[in-house]
Amino acid sequence: MKRFLVLAALIAFGAGVAAYQAPQQPPPVIGTADKLEVVKLKDNFFVITSSNPTPRETFSGGNVTVLITDAGVTLVDTKLANWGQALLDKLKTITTKPVTTIINTHTHGDHTGNDDKFGTSVEIVAQENTKTNMAKMDAFKGDKAQFLPKRTFRDKLSIGSGNERIDLYYFGAGHTNGDAFVVFPALRVLQTGDLFAWKDAPRIDRANGGSGVQYPQTLAKAVAALKNVDTVVPGHSPLMTLKDLEEYQRYTADLLVAVQSARKSGKSADDAAASINLTDKYKGYKSERVKQAVQDIYDEMNAASSR
Ligand SMILES: [Zn+2]
Repeated sequence: MKRFLVLAALIAFGAGVAAYQAPQQPPPVIGTADKLEVVKLKDNFFVITSSNPTPRETFSGGNVTVLITDAGVTLVDTKLANWGQALLDKLKTITTKPVTTIINTHTHGDHTGNDDKFGTSVEIVAQENTKTNMAKMDAFKGDKAQFLPKRTFRDKLSIGSGNERIDLYYFGAGHTNGDAFVVFPALRVLQTGDLFAWKDAPRIDRANGGSGVQYPQTLAKAVAALKNVDTVVPGHSPLMTLKDLEEYQRYTADLLVAVQSARKSGKSADDAAASINLTDKYKGYKSERVKQAVQDIYDEMNAASSR
């Protein structure tokens, strides 16, 4: 009887192993232009949105801005690779001019996925750490290395002139270690990339040099430096204002303080995340990303204190 039970258990275990399969990635969504929403801010300036990560069927990557100049079109970010044809088709409904410049706010594939779709003469611009990060991506290896940014900057760079001038700033580590803030001074528009993606805890990509500890001071520098802005284009949300960015700076500072004091009192990262509630103070904020952010900040602080 005992032997039978052991055998039965082994068979059941074997069946369990056979039935178990690694979780499958759902097939990629191939985007179409009709799913891309466009917001017209000026005759020569548009935002291609459909940037909310959920639902997945309409998630095309980060917000893309389109500046139409005498010389050609400047794009800031280029969405997910699977939305390349959709992006090309949508641009045709906005302008017949060729894309001549691409600015990448940071390295992630939902912001750089179609840098290679506009030909080899396009000037691609990014913060210098972002170029280093992009060079590590499979999407920019081999032949595709020609689509790495050729023009880089450390702290500040202006491109174009007059009403078409674009100012790029780097304020420090946050989402990654190469997040550019892009300002269109004549239009009073700021595009933040994912340093300000949504009203929820930030994603901190430590593998690409992101820092939850430096996040609040990086945003504080941005808030102090950028005054003449009416419209803020976040990474993955509808259009906002400078007030929203200022509030987000305070949110990241409060989040960091809450994590620091939880860690000091000996709480685990999970317990800390469960005990932190910022949504009473920050109306309209979600807490879907708090757990991950708290874990990332714990990991960062643990790594620093073991050094
Ligand atoms: Zn990102």
